[in-house]
Amino acid sequence: MNIWLNSLLGLFYPKQCAACGLKISEQLIICINCEQNLPFTDFHLQSDNVVAKQFWGRAPIEAAAACFYFTKGSKIQHLIHQLKYKGNQQVGEFIGNLYGQKLKKSVFNKVDMIIPVPLHLKKIKKRGYNQSTCFAKGLSMALQKPVEEQAVIRKSFTETQTKKSRWNRWLNVSEAFEVIDKEKLQEKNILLVDDVITTGATMEALVSKLSQSVHAQFYVASIAYAGIN
Ligand SMILES: [Zn+2]
Repeated sequence: MNIWLNSLLGLFYPKQCAACGLKISEQLIICINCEQNLPFTDFHLQSDNVVAKQFWGRAPIEAAAACFYFTKGSKIQHLIHQLKYKGNQQVGEFIGNLYGQKLKKSVFNKVDMIIPVPLHLKKIKKRGYNQSTCFAKGLSMALQKPVEEQAVIRKSFTETQTKKSRWNRWLNVSEAFEVIDKEKLQEKNILLVDDVITTGATMEALVSKLSQSVHAQFYVASIAYAGIN
């Protein structure tokens, strides 16, 4: 799009901060005020953080972390809503790049590749993209490691997770993943990424499946941690 047309469109559809909705200049993703008040967890600096603990005794991980705390009605909820339901893929890349700068200075600097939690094809078609891939791309920019999307796929279509109990969620996702290219993953340090971690059931199923299939080290990171209410 040429610059003239872009600024003309800006008159009618001014760009909004993806976190609070305030009008911002075209090259920004969120406003300065939101950027200075993001609820970082700093979990990547604590080996016994609440996300990592979810995996203890369940699935073998080296480290796990989430960039932000997720609370209802918060700016983070708004950001993730933009990413998942409003087609705003830039939000995922922005957060990924931001978080990658932090992860680079922690145990996460060991990772060789980044794998977004795969979505079923039906869901990709509906949304047009995998929101975790957007986050992975941003991380990839900061960490200078490739995004790998071919080695593992999601084979069964799982229904919406929100109304199910932990056990039912587990049953639902435990057989959902299939490793297609073991060779690519063998002996690698693999960073698995998702948008929001709540119970960790999806990620646990993915790590379990991968660890049964290949010999590798697994790291987990998400945009946000929502806890269990
Ligand atoms: Zn804002």
